[in-house]
Amino acid sequence: MTESIPLPDAAWPELLPGWVWLCGAGPGDPGLLTLHGLNALRQADVIVYDALVEPAILDWAKPGAESIYAGKRGGKPSARQRDISLRLVDLARDGKRVLRLKGGDPFVFGRGGEEAQTLVQHGVPIRIIPGISAGIGGLAYAGIPVTHRDVNQSVTFVTGHDQSGETPSSLDWGAISKGSQVIVIYMGIKHIAQISAALLAAGRGHGEPVAIVTNATTCEQRVLETTLGTITADIAAHSIEPPAIICVGRSVLMRQALDWQALAAGEAPRNTDPLGRGRPAEAS
Ligand code: SAH
Repeated sequence: MTESIPLPDAAWPELLPGWVWLCGAGPGDPGLLTLHGLNALRQADVIVYDALVEPAILDWAKPGAESIYAGKRGGKPSARQRDISLRLVDLARDGKRVLRLKGGDPFVFGRGGEEAQTLVQHGVPIRIIPGISAGIGGLAYAGIPVTHRDVNQSVTFVTGHDQSGETPSSLDWGAISKGSQVIVIYMGIKHIAQISAALLAAGRGHGEPVAIVTNATTCEQRVLETTLGTITADIAAHSIEPPAIICVGRSVLMRQALDWQALAAGEAPRNTDPLGRGRPAEAS
């Protein structure tokens, strides 16, 4: 199975017994795993993976490797997180080659930093393998460039809830609204009413374009285009459930030209100049 996917010739690092590699698996589509990720999968004795890791990726593990599911099932998230981190320590101390596989990028809203810190505190050697985060790669699969010269010179990534399960009180929506033309929200569905109200109160327009991308990059991907004023009602009306990435800002309009999956299916672009520049994109 594994041998059927050769790695290109290179000096690939060796996953040694007693080490833990924390690796991003990307947002879903198995092809978005990095080559370092594949190299890790080919060597790991044990793979501890999260709910958002596409199961097909585990098929690339070496034969006989053990897979341990560490997804959250509600309950006490922080206690459970501690359990996962200590489990990794134990596996490493047992002399296993351990791969901790997490959705997207391990250091983007994924508690990878906390797990890595616990490992370091217990003297376990680690390597970090970045992954494609849903807030970038997921939007790209929806035809939304997270930056575009005509729209934004900055982008802000926020999480819709914190450890308590509430919208983080540390978020300054006024500053974010003013300072960032494009806002990408992870885990935003649950508190969308509160979040959209905060953005509107901070001066963003009711008609501001918003896209919600669920199950991005998988065959279940769905994209809902709406506006800041109607997003809460639309999420309820379409029964939208996590995992979802919410993008607020005019870059969402670019999807009218760049929805490449629709184009590949033979549809014509809805609008080749969605930002109304009236000139070819490369003219200046
Ligand atoms: N480390 C991950 C994020 C983990 S937090 C990353 O870098 O992507 C989990 C949140 O990520 C989800 O609630 C959702 O907001 C987002 N997410 C992850 N995978 C996704 C996907 N395939 N489609 C849409 N959102 C996704």
